Amino acid sequence: MPTLVPEEQRRFAAAVVRRLREAGFEAYWAGGCVRDELLGLMPKDYDVATDATPPQIRSLFGKGRTLAIGAAFGVITVLGSKMAGMVEVTTFRRDAEYSDGRHPDHVTFSSAEEDASRRDFTVNGLFYDPIDRRVLDFVGGREDLRRRVLRAIGDPRKRFAEDKLRMLRAVRFIAAFDFHLEAETLAAIREMAAEITVVSPERIATEMRRLLTAPRRAKAVRLMLEVGLATPLLPEIVPPDEIRHQRLDHALAVLDRLSRPAFPLALGALLHELVDPPGARRVGRRWRLSNRETDRVAWLVKHRAALSGSPLMRWSALQPLLIAEGIEDLLALHEAASPTGRDDVDHCRSLLERPPEQLDPPRLLTGDDLRAHGVPSGPRYRTLLQRIRNAQLDEEIHTRAEALELVDRLLQQ
Ligand code: ATP
Ligand code: MG
Repeated sequence: MPTLVPEEQRRFAAAVVRRLREAGFEAYWAGGCVRDELLGLMPKDYDVATDATPPQIRSLFGKGRTLAIGAAFGVITVLGSKMAGMVEVTTFRRDAEYSDGRHPDHVTFSSAEEDASRRDFTVNGLFYDPIDRRVLDFVGGREDLRRRVLRAIGDPRKRFAEDKLRMLRAVRFIAAFDFHLEAETLAAIREMAAEITVVSPERIATEMRRLLTAPRRAKAVRLMLEVGLATPLLPEIVPPDEIRHQRLDHALAVLDRLSRPAFPLALGALLHELVDPPGARRVGRRWRLSNRETDRVAWLVKHRAALSGSPLMRWSALQPLLIAEGIEDLLALHEAASPTGRDDVDHCRSLLERPPEQLDPPRLLTGDDLRAHGVPSGPRYRTLLQRIRNAQLDEEIHTRAEALELVDRLLQQ
């Protein structure tokens, strides 16, 4: 994966267009990549739109160099070299009827102009011809890009009724590009926000993931609150009173201070003072996050203040946090969240430099040792082993023999 080279990606995306054109088809770059190029940003990936049908695309590039997973929706993936990655080639289409507000009932292949008008926002509805270096604009997207306006294509109420996720996508694009919402588009979202609940958790999570890791993420969350999308999606952050309002303000400041956070850290930062760990788990389950991500968010919420005053902490209290898998996220959260964060984190970082055998020395005793020592099995094992471990880390004991002596003393208490 990390071998992708942007220049190669771009060259390959242009070569795919050229190949289609030489075979007599119409073909352009489409959507997000055109928007990014015109904004002077490096697109993450390139999409090509064409009047060639999926079977025509496949026979042109060959079965071995294409994937047909999305063929029913007119999408063929064309594979390039490791450095160039892949390009999605999509047949121009018109989406028929959205009876459920989530996805079209079927798709019909059509023209470039119709393909532009089924897209969500004008700035996402542009085509670019990389051979003749020409922009094709059927929807007024260029002017909106120039003025940094996010505007629904067509009647915003109709477009949001077709697919309610577009309301959240609007907020996400505002966060990514620091645009502002055109008035009618904004008004429609305000009116329809509560209807977002018909969208599948997976699609919501995909957008929330992009939204919370975008450059203007705090602005996006404020906008979610303002337009009424937070109430159905993330009621935990909606402040019922002044205290919670202040906590929210703090959480948003923390969220913005993080530098390039991954999603679990960003979500943990947003929630850290607003929910307890079970509350964080509920959010993870609501969005069908992986257990790994949900565990990380809940762990961050649980230990949000645990590094405070780290220079004064016992090693036995600090060490389990420092060796935990999520420590980098916790350090980042603490540094962004606490007035003493800097010093606490510097201290932790100096401890993390310790050699592994000092940072996480092998335990002096295991459960088997307790059994061999004649301690009857039971829930006491956990507490005993914990006490031994703490005494070891705090250098009150150094050997197995001293550990067993401590066991005897503890058992007599
Ligand atoms: P990013 O750079 O973050 O991926 P993007 O604009 O490429 O942004 P995608 O979700 O990858 O966003 O979608 C690619 C394009 O497909 C969009 O630019 C838009 O033209 C169209 N599109 C995507 N989702 C929708 C939708 N729900 N409704 C209408 N058009 C959509
Ligand atoms: Mg994209």
